[in-house]
Amino acid sequence: MAEPGNGSRRPVAGAVGGWWFWAWVAFCGLLAVLLLGLSVSRLTADEAVALGAPFALIAGLVLIAELRPVVTAGAYDPQGVTISTAFVFAILFYWGPWPALLVHGLGVVLGEIAKRKPVWKIVFNTGQYVGSLAVSALILWLAGLRPTPTHPSGDIDAHTLLVMAVSWAAYFLMNLAMVATAISLRTGTRWWDDFVDDIDYYAITTFAVLALSPVVVVVTKASWGLIPLLLLPLFLVYKTASISLEKEHAAMHDALTGLANRKRLIEMMALAGEEAGRTGGAVALCLLDLDRFKEINDTLGHHTGDRLLEIAANRLARAVRPEDTVARLGGDEFAVLLTDVKGPADALEAAERIRGLLSEPFHLDGMALQVETSIGVALHPEHTDSVPRLLQLADVAMYQAKEERTGVELYRQERDIHTPDRLDLLGSVRRAIENDELEMHFQPAVSVPAGRPVGVEALVRWNHPERGLIFPDVFLDLVEQSGLMRQLTHLVLAKSLARAAQWWHAGIEVPVAVNVSVRDLSDAKFADVVAGLLREHDLPAQALKLEITEHVLMADPGRMTHALESIGRLGVDLSLDDFGTGYSSLVHLKRLPVSELKVDRSFVQRMTSDPDDAAIVRSIVDLGHSLGLRVVAEGVETIESWHALEALGCDLAQGYLISRPVPGDEVIRWLAAHVATGDAAGNAMQPVHPAPEAVAARP
Ligand code: C2E
Ligand code: CA
Ligand code: CA
Repeated sequence: MAEPGNGSRRPVAGAVGGWWFWAWVAFCGLLAVLLLGLSVSRLTADEAVALGAPFALIAGLVLIAELRPVVTAGAYDPQGVTISTAFVFAILFYWGPWPALLVHGLGVVLGEIAKRKPVWKIVFNTGQYVGSLAVSALILWLAGLRPTPTHPSGDIDAHTLLVMAVSWAAYFLMNLAMVATAISLRTGTRWWDDFVDDIDYYAITTFAVLALSPVVVVVTKASWGLIPLLLLPLFLVYKTASISLEKEHAAMHDALTGLANRKRLIEMMALAGEEAGRTGGAVALCLLDLDRFKEINDTLGHHTGDRLLEIAANRLARAVRPEDTVARLGGDEFAVLLTDVKGPADALEAAERIRGLLSEPFHLDGMALQVETSIGVALHPEHTDSVPRLLQLADVAMYQAKEERTGVELYRQERDIHTPDRLDLLGSVRRAIENDELEMHFQPAVSVPAGRPVGVEALVRWNHPERGLIFPDVFLDLVEQSGLMRQLTHLVLAKSLARAAQWWHAGIEVPVAVNVSVRDLSDAKFADVVAGLLREHDLPAQALKLEITEHVLMADPGRMTHALESIGRLGVDLSLDDFGTGYSSLVHLKRLPVSELKVDRSFVQRMTSDPDDAAIVRSIVDLGHSLGLRVVAEGVETIESWHALEALGCDLAQGYLISRPVPGDEVIRWLAAHVATGDAAGNAMQPVHPAPEAVAARP
């Protein structure tokens, strides 16, 4: 039988049931004391003598068997029927209720103590088993089967077998009911759900064991010395049951953490979906992924990685209610299924709580490791009618949370590339590249505090025939997924260098900065392509700068360093984009051939309102300078941030305050105007162009 807090439900560590639960435990304890007291007082000395050697043998086997429950103790311990129950029932049929109750009670107490169960559990389990046996005894008594030690039962015929079978069923149901009561009082789950949970499995194992009890009786009567021979079939029942149970458990659970696996999660999702359909509630699925896990696994070893996953699993299991399901889907990916949520706000709150728990340091190998978590949340029926689809939708949201480094994201259809709208776009990116629908806009960067133009960043736009201007954050991942990134970069480089050639050949020697992705850098011929394009446009290497985002670079610094070095050899400057959002190690930073750090715009935008962000910008500026690098602030939108950057000694600034990204002709005019005046400090403060993008709505 399952015991409270065990079985297929995860234990709620530290959870303590309310008063009703404790009252129930106390009641079971009283029941045990009462029944066992009664047994002792009802057994006369004559009867005890009459029991004799066969009884001593069977009672001894009960105690041995109690110390070997069907399932070995481990992460999963449903405390199944022990093979001792067959002997207990044999005693019941042959010598009557009092010796049976005594032996059963003693067996349970010793067995539980051996397993080091807490006192309340020993008390409860004793009452549970002894109480259930008392019900069986009552049924035998009512049916007229009333053996005593001095008058053991006679032959077993069809009638007695039938009565026995009824008494087994009574024992089984009573046992289950008492456990279900304890679980539902302790954890607040529904009594019926607990009652039927795994009932088929328990029924089979219980009856398989109990059906052997008449055989024990027959052997006892015929020739009790043969009783030990019965151990073999009983042991086989035991073994079969435990193997099948372990198999079933393994098929549904993750071996490392003991959490549910994907298969079980899907089952639980289906159940939760049905339930929500009945009650009109909602089901939320949170998918989460530990952001730096791979790094930890690689640097500290799999053993530490595994330990971290175990601790994380433990925290997750504790973070949710017992009716929720926590699953590990593989690697560092976990899922939490929240049943019966009120709506998105409810689910987001739970997700934030989970994230908070996982952000606490993990103490491993004497270190305190910090792990960030990205969580995607999707709800049924809010986001989809189909419950299995929640997995996909939560995955999309998780990806978003990772990309935007926001930690937790709710699924939003408009950002899902799998929606028909995005599928349509996906189909047309190739066409966009072939039909020359991509165009470049350019955003200048100026020196601080002089405001002299010192660079121009090329930003790609898709001029879609029907939809108008589409921004890169909408279509770049489509390009990536279609395997077209190299083609896009090639195109972007060609267009940007063609423009830059116009201003360079007009004597304005300001480099153009092009954003490149990892995919480009892993192309062995990338440096050659760049060199070829520079030659084609008759430009020196100083006319080009390449921007690589920090987190992309740091994902695999070893491999990247090689690619970057060959670019560095060309004389092309490298800039580390979105700096502050990744995890650059100083060692790598020093080795990389970069000449510039671009402070991520999220810090710059908040630096005048949030002291933490101001501190981050300050330390990036200081770090950059101590490594001999230029520091650029992007996303400079207000004059206040400009002044703050000036005070920090930041070298360059880029942002709407200076200019929005504008088409090629316009940027040339802008450059001409500001290079010519040589001033621009004053002018830089006023956006010179109303800029087309000020009006183009962002998707
Ligand atoms: P990024 O490299 O960080 O580019 C800066 C982004 O910030 C641009 O968005 C720019 O329009 C925007 N921005 C500039 N100043 C301000 C400001 O003052 N306030 C605010 N709120 N935003 C400002 P955009 O053009 O939408 O580009 C988004 C991202 O797409 C870029 O981020 C870059 O990572 C990527 N990207 C753009 N063009 C290309 C390209 O040609 N190739 C590749 N591989 N990636 C590109
Ligand atoms: Ca950039
Ligand atoms: Ca950036």
